[in-house]
Amino acid sequence: MFGNLQPQAPDKILALMGEFRADTRQGKIDLGVGVYKDPTGLTPVMRAVKEAERRIWEAETTKAYTALTGEPAYLQALSSMVLADARDDARTAMLSTVGGTGAIRQALEMARMGNPDLTVHVSDPTWPNHLSILKFVGIPFFEYRYFDAETRGVDFEGMKADIARAKKGDLVLLHGCCHNPTGANLTLEQWAEIVAILDKTGAVPLVDLAYQGFGDGLEEDAAGTRLVLRSRPDALVAASCSKNFGIYRERTGLLMVQVADAAQKDLAQGALAFLGRQNYSFPPDHGARIVQTILDDEGLAADWKAELEEVRLGMLSLRQQLAEELRNLTGSDRFDFIERHRGMFSRLGATPQQVQKIKEDNAIYMVGDSRLNIAGLNRDSVPILARAIVEAGV
Ligand code: PMP
Repeated sequence: MFGNLQPQAPDKILALMGEFRADTRQGKIDLGVGVYKDPTGLTPVMRAVKEAERRIWEAETTKAYTALTGEPAYLQALSSMVLADARDDARTAMLSTVGGTGAIRQALEMARMGNPDLTVHVSDPTWPNHLSILKFVGIPFFEYRYFDAETRGVDFEGMKADIARAKKGDLVLLHGCCHNPTGANLTLEQWAEIVAILDKTGAVPLVDLAYQGFGDGLEEDAAGTRLVLRSRPDALVAASCSKNFGIYRERTGLLMVQVADAAQKDLAQGALAFLGRQNYSFPPDHGARIVQTILDDEGLAADWKAELEEVRLGMLSLRQQLAEELRNLTGSDRFDFIERHRGMFSRLGATPQQVQKIKEDNAIYMVGDSRLNIAGLNRDSVPILARAIVEAGV
């Protein structure tokens, strides 16, 4: 049976991590894998998460199954945090998912249950998992222009022209904030223009919100998503708690499906429960319970927000420092886009050869498409990276 299996291409980022570990050079710098790291290189457990876990451990009396679509208190708490008053209870079905990835996978399956001829439109570039899931489940997709290689900002005219080609009932996958892998994002005015195009075509938005709180702030980072939900009849949102709660391995996510008419809500909720049951039955609970415990407790929520804000501001200040070092070294402002980008990533716009040279000469590891994880830096390594970028001729 298994002799027919084809070898799978190794995950590029995991392969890069293997190379990094094997590198024996002192002072090597890892800007590859997409997890937040503090200035000492650790991915810490957030204070509020630790305290929530303690409280859960003390109070929990059973490990019996929770609800099939997830603990209702979690669904309420997280959807309120993400959508605020843009959530329309009468029209929103929800599913607790296995991370943000699980929410995306279920969102795609759900959309195809509604439209068997589904086509999805994704940004070029996008998070590679989007493409590999689409290929695996056999949903055709188009890429819309997104990144302007010259300015390293959004090619908004190209994006609009390509999204205008989406048909009624197609899905348009949008990154809610902190675009992965580029770091280039839409302004709220641009979100409004995208909504107007969706209005015209009847295509349905699927917002992937994996970094809320990592860009301009918790509320600011959800503003585009909220605008979409307020403006469009049908819409889907896949939220991840991996980054903003730092609970990567707990696999905590949420799929929200807004339907056009309240009469369709039960159908949508039933379809979500069905999908969960076909895949893994009940969702994991521990991460969801941590999130709900934090969000429902004023003190814990305040502490979590404060720590998240430290994380966000730390990354912003590294961006500013890197842009400034590069201004000084090059005597130009051509790297100022690093300061304008938001979130954990920036696409530098270096060639694969330049990325290779930076790795060989300086033991600095970034992904081959020149995506670098800003959180892999600290105040001491920023000048080293800046010099390496210039020496590689980027
Ligand atoms: N979407 C994007 C764009 C991401 O970068 C990630 C995390 N790498 C996710 C979704 C989902 O992450 P997780 O499944 O770990 O919650």
